[in-house]
Amino acid sequence: MSDFPTTARVVIIGGGVVGVSTLYHLAKAGWTDCVLLEKNELTAGSTWHAAGNCPSFSTSWAIMNMQRYSLGLYAGLAEEVDYPMNYHVTGSIRLAHDKNRMLEFERARTMGRYQGLDIEMMSISDMKDAYPFLETHDLAGGLWDPDDGDIDPAQLTQALAKGARDMGASIQRFCPATGVTQVGDEWIVHTDKGDIRCEKVVNCAGYYAQRVGEWFKPYGGRTVPMTVMSHQYFLTEEIPELKEWTEANGRKVPLLRDVDSSYYLRQDKHGLNLGPYERNCKAHWVTP
Ligand SMILES: Cc1cc2nc3c(=O)[nH]c(=O)nc-3n(C[C@H](O)[C@H](O)[C@H](O)COP(=O)(O)OP(=O)(O)OC[C@H]3O[C@@H](n4cnc5c(N)ncnc54)[C@H](O)[C@@H]3O)c2cc1C
Repeated sequence: MSDFPTTARVVIIGGGVVGVSTLYHLAKAGWTDCVLLEKNELTAGSTWHAAGNCPSFSTSWAIMNMQRYSLGLYAGLAEEVDYPMNYHVTGSIRLAHDKNRMLEFERARTMGRYQGLDIEMMSISDMKDAYPFLETHDLAGGLWDPDDGDIDPAQLTQALAKGARDMGASIQRFCPATGVTQVGDEWIVHTDKGDIRCEKVVNCAGYYAQRVGEWFKPYGGRTVPMTVMSHQYFLTEEIPELKEWTEANGRKVPLLRDVDSSYYLRQDKHGLNLGPYERNCKAHWVTP
């Protein structure tokens, strides 16, 4: 007999980090009768491409709080679910090019204090000490986020998947959801492998989320306000000075974040990963 599930409490559409994390957290809350559908392999969407930088800093209380929770989760997850991961807490330096940016950092630092985060303001000399390669002539100062770092997004997703499966949740890979039908208070999620009847459906389809959201429109659903923006990063080759510094100090240099010039710069092995946020960034799949 097929072991394809025909009923579930919740069906999650999408096996990126968001969908798998949803499955893991539902299972942890006791909702183990849940099924995740991924049309390809887990992490086949944006998750696979993510640089995996994980800040705690935000100017929004709610986002800072979520990020704070996530960093706590990442710190203990590998051991909890017995799935080793590459997770580096390097700390980060946010660059301020003027006094107004310093004021913004000061506000975030104060907010962070109330969430138990040790975010600190940095003088130029603090920044030079922490990051000897930094050019500081056009900077007013900076902000130190000690909990910032990077995690391998594919490994994180697989760790959450292992945790969810171990608690009894089900993951169906290579199983596209093809539509939904509402029957009374329940939903039928259609797939190529069969239908699943459930109480709730969670749309975690990432850059397909707006398309999946359209299936719910006949039942009173709204447009999912999700737009796909292009973003890319590049990796340099090994940089001898960075290699020498890393070997001498036994650690990577902190992540640099510059919101004014709009990029992140992270050490990747003995090279750098530069991720710019282009000013004329293009939206994709948008019909004019
Ligand atoms: C170059 C780059 C760098 C990035 N760097 C960072 C970073 O440093 N830090 C950070 O926090 N974020 C970063 N991001 C953003 C991060 O990758 C995304 O926010 C995150 O991966 C989104 O996860 P998701 O689960 O929502 O979507 P996705 O990973 O896209 O997952 C959606 C999944 O849904 C599946 N799916 C879609 N339709 C269906 C269907 N009908 N049936 C079944 N499955 C379906 C897809 O196959 C896909 O696997 C970066 C992104 C890019 C592109």
